[in-house]
Amino acid sequence: MADRLPAIFFGHGNPLYALARNDYTEAWRRLGEEIPRPKAILAISAHWYGRETAVTVSLAPRTIHDFGGFPQELYRVQYKAPGDPVLARRVQECLAPLRVKPDDTWGLDHGTWSVLCHVYPKADIPVVQLSIDATRAPRFHFEIGRALAPLRDEDILILGSGNLIHNLRAYAWGQPLREPYDWAARFESRAKELMLAGDYAALIDYEALGPDAMLSIPTPDHYLPLLYVLGAGQPGEGIRFPVAGIEGGSVSMLAVQVGNVRR
Ligand code: ZN
Repeated sequence: MADRLPAIFFGHGNPLYALARNDYTEAWRRLGEEIPRPKAILAISAHWYGRETAVTVSLAPRTIHDFGGFPQELYRVQYKAPGDPVLARRVQECLAPLRVKPDDTWGLDHGTWSVLCHVYPKADIPVVQLSIDATRAPRFHFEIGRALAPLRDEDILILGSGNLIHNLRAYAWGQPLREPYDWAARFESRAKELMLAGDYAALIDYEALGPDAMLSIPTPDHYLPLLYVLGAGQPGEGIRFPVAGIEGGSVSMLAVQVGNVRR
């Protein structure tokens, strides 16, 4: 189906990019213009990482400023996209018999809005967030992506937001242009090869990929949203990397688009 929406993983990086205009944010904006316009967005962000699978049901999700120590201007950002309780219910249906808790306390965290404010600056497309259950193994998250795949034919954009490589201990603060660490460069190219080869089993079992993977993924929170996006892919679909770059040596800004790839 030519018009099936892609599923896209965004490397979100620094929350301040919400206010910036740089190569990453420009590439995000272009993506929003290039892909078919979604009816609604289902976002899986590294920053809603809890002990259950929940889905936002509010009609007007709040903008959550879930970070500390940033300039006041960033706390004033509001991304006022509406919610979509009908989509939330559809997500529950797709994932049954898994219990997906309806949630009206969360809203849109910065993993979602710092990217979407560039992709869809008018905030006129409804957004629903799905939480990540940290108690589950990586395969669970991939399987959720797979169960959500039919939504792509219903004009829903499945959006993961995290970072393929996210090591803040190694991060060279104040030196965003620092050369990537060798292990980061190696892991990113290995992960890209595996994605292009469709070897998702290796990416699910990432701990077996060795020390480069362990340094790149010291905790799973920023990596798991990628597995939802890969899971939502269909056999034989194209895959591309519309945004790339490694910041501060140890944070990958790689974006991964599954499907709707023009060849
Ligand atoms: Zn983050």
